[in-house]
Amino acid sequence: SLKGKTAIITGSNSGIGLGVAHELARAGADVVINSFTDREEDHKLAADLGKEHGVTARYVKADLSKGDEARGLIREVGRCDILVNNAGIQHVAPIEEFPVEKWDAIIAIMLSAAYHTTAEALPMMREAGWGRVVNIASAHGLTASPYKSAYVSAKHGLVGMTKVVALETAKEPITANAICPGYVKTPLVEAQIPDTAKKYNMSEEEVIEKVILDRQPSKEFATTGQLGQTAVFLCSPAADQITGTTISVDGGWTAL
Ligand code: NAD
Repeated sequence: SLKGKTAIITGSNSGIGLGVAHELARAGADVVINSFTDREEDHKLAADLGKEHGVTARYVKADLSKGDEARGLIREVGRCDILVNNAGIQHVAPIEEFPVEKWDAIIAIMLSAAYHTTAEALPMMREAGWGRVVNIASAHGLTASPYKSAYVSAKHGLVGMTKVVALETAKEPITANAICPGYVKTPLVEAQIPDTAKKYNMSEEEVIEKVILDRQPSKEFATTGQLGQTAVFLCSPAADQITGTTISVDGGWTAL
């Protein structure tokens, strides 16, 4: 059980982050939900989650495109046994047309933010004598696709940083690993479907079958619950010696 542990999950008011928050809470951890908005529904999401699983849950606003806010998130909570770096965005364009501000935002939210949160959280883990860093990378942290230069760069970078953190904590009861999902049906993926349909001149149904799940041999989306359960496994004693590596949850994508 993760009772007594505090988990901070970045970018967790939707999609995979929310799924991970639910599974960590189900396993007994107190959870901190985060995004860049500060709406009533964000706080309600945390309250409902806490009630459902009988744990303490709160929502803390932080815009992770800003380094000081990423650090502020960890500092404000003041305790972090489990850090899940999950916040992410996507933009699809050929590299010569890739908007500079999209490049900067993707690298900031998906790579630099994880550096800031990890730097703030590691001393807290050392103080507590136990810690888990779980980075939500991607199959795109291990392989590439055209038109996703910033995303693929950020995710490969995140996998690299995971290995460094694992080495710097190797002699301590702290581990750092990356989960590499294939396609999971979340708002992030759904938002890509119309653009991709235009690019390939296909219907949205064809895009799902021939483009998106083309890379996923199982021909099925992974679920946010499966990703959450993978994070729970990485926080279990069975995973004490698993550090500095990646776990793919991709229906066979990276075996191709
Ligand atoms: P999503 O859009 O549902 O969730 C993204 C989360 O990040 C949201 O909670 C959003 O509010 C938050 N976020 C975005 N910008 C932020 C910012 N500036 N500050 C704080 N929070 C911010 O998408 P998702 O599919 O659940 O993606 C979650 C992670 O999983 C991402 O890192 C993504 O790259 C990765 N991933 C997703 C898939 C997939 O198929 N969905 C596959 C591989 C990896």
